[in-house]
Amino acid sequence: MLLNRSERNFPRVIVIGAGFGGVELARRLKNKEVEVLLIDRNNYHTFQPLMYQVATGTLASDSISFPLRKMFKNQDNFRFRLAEVLRIDAEQKIVHTSVADYDYDYLVVATGATSNFFGNKEVEKYSLPMKNIVEALNIRSYMIQNLEEAVLRKNSEDRQRYLNFVVVGGGPTGVELSGAIAEYQQHMLKKDYPELSTYDMKVYLVEGTGKILGALSEKSSRDAERYLNELGVKVTLNTVVTGYDGNTVTLSSGEQIPSKTLLWGAGVMGQMPEGIDPAIIERGNRIRIDQQCRVEGLKDVYAIGDVSAMISEENPRGLPGVAPVAQQQGKYVAQHIMNILNNQETVDFKYFDKGSMATVGRNRAVVDMGSFHMKGFLAWATWMFVHLVSIFGFRNRVVTFVNWSIKFLTKNSGIRLIIHKYHRPETIKANEELQNLKTN
Ligand SMILES: Cc1cc2nc3c(=O)[nH]c(=O)nc-3n(C[C@H](O)[C@H](O)[C@H](O)COP(=O)(O)OP(=O)(O)OC[C@H]3O[C@@H](n4cnc5c(N)ncnc54)[C@H](O)[C@@H]3O)c2cc1C
Repeated sequence: MLLNRSERNFPRVIVIGAGFGGVELARRLKNKEVEVLLIDRNNYHTFQPLMYQVATGTLASDSISFPLRKMFKNQDNFRFRLAEVLRIDAEQKIVHTSVADYDYDYLVVATGATSNFFGNKEVEKYSLPMKNIVEALNIRSYMIQNLEEAVLRKNSEDRQRYLNFVVVGGGPTGVELSGAIAEYQQHMLKKDYPELSTYDMKVYLVEGTGKILGALSEKSSRDAERYLNELGVKVTLNTVVTGYDGNTVTLSSGEQIPSKTLLWGAGVMGQMPEGIDPAIIERGNRIRIDQQCRVEGLKDVYAIGDVSAMISEENPRGLPGVAPVAQQQGKYVAQHIMNILNNQETVDFKYFDKGSMATVGRNRAVVDMGSFHMKGFLAWATWMFVHLVSIFGFRNRVVTFVNWSIKFLTKNSGIRLIIHKYHRPETIKANEELQNLKTN
């Protein structure tokens, strides 16, 4: 079944994925003579940079999510479909989804990235990644569940397993997550759980290379490591996780950490529907695109953001997987399509790098802008301002600001609720076996 075209019969642009790239592109096509059909498996956009604050209870999930239909309510040429895109047929110019098939004139793949476990099935099974809201909420529930379990354990060795939190990956996600957990340990653990001592809980950050925040400057990396140390995070560099059975984390150094919680922020890879020729898939499962964001070999198909790899002499590994790249490419492709439709010349995409930043708990952050480096409270205030103005929606900005202000004044990050209990794979299996026994 193909979706009927509107009476205006404008060319149809299908955008798969309502992340930073897809949303920017759809917005830029407002009031243009095209029909925009945005398809996503969720009916909301997620502001991923603040996901760690949902995982650690500072923000509620709806503070960093925005309903797509509300976002585009004033855009006449916009339609949304809640669906999983299954396959792209570039020859017939059709997108096959879980709800219907849609034909397009131009297609933009903006499906982002998912976690990469580098083939380690055991780690994939037992660790908790954080690439979407559901996963962030799983982490929130699971960490609190483990603290609740810890107070019930009499045996100290057994209890320690529930109090060791291991974060893998020293990029911004791992650094921000481990900093926030350590901050909870320092300021709140004792108040919430008088049975436990602050020193009982331990936070580890394991990074495979020789420094954390590898994409930032040497200074930022050093400062962030110092901040983590001050918060009591045990940072281990040049080490990878080689195994995890749900109870013990094994490191490449041979060290073993008894832990019920392994949080995975070590790698990402592009995610995409079927129909893309494997010959144009680059390292990190990303679609190779030319300097005008066009997918190699496919007519009228573009890819932007984390799912794409724009490789050049200047950037032999492609552009970084960050929100500004996706947004700038979204803006660029909207203009590119309009230029083609208006028989105007097209130019190559140029990425404008505005800088990078990461925060490490309260009052501490690092910021790089070109050769300029900032740290400490000023960097933290800059980080907060940049993130606050970037969140979609007035309500979300106000709620976030209020939550941050309360946390700043009280050191208390309020939302420690277990709404949906997180069940680990072995618990699910045990429950299923129990159920089978009962029914047989
Ligand atoms: C925890 C975390 C923290 C981050 N922090 C920062 C930061 O501080 N600064 C920064 O610049 N970047 C940060 N990033 C990276 C940044 O979020 C990404 O670079 C950015 O989201 C990429 O945008 P995108 O549009 O390519 O994809 P995404 O924003 O990932 O959006 C992809 C969309 O596609 C949808 N989708 C995927 N496949 C399908 C399908 N088959 N069918 C239907 N829908 C589909 C998904 O539901 C999603 O809505 C962070 C990422 C994470 C995970």
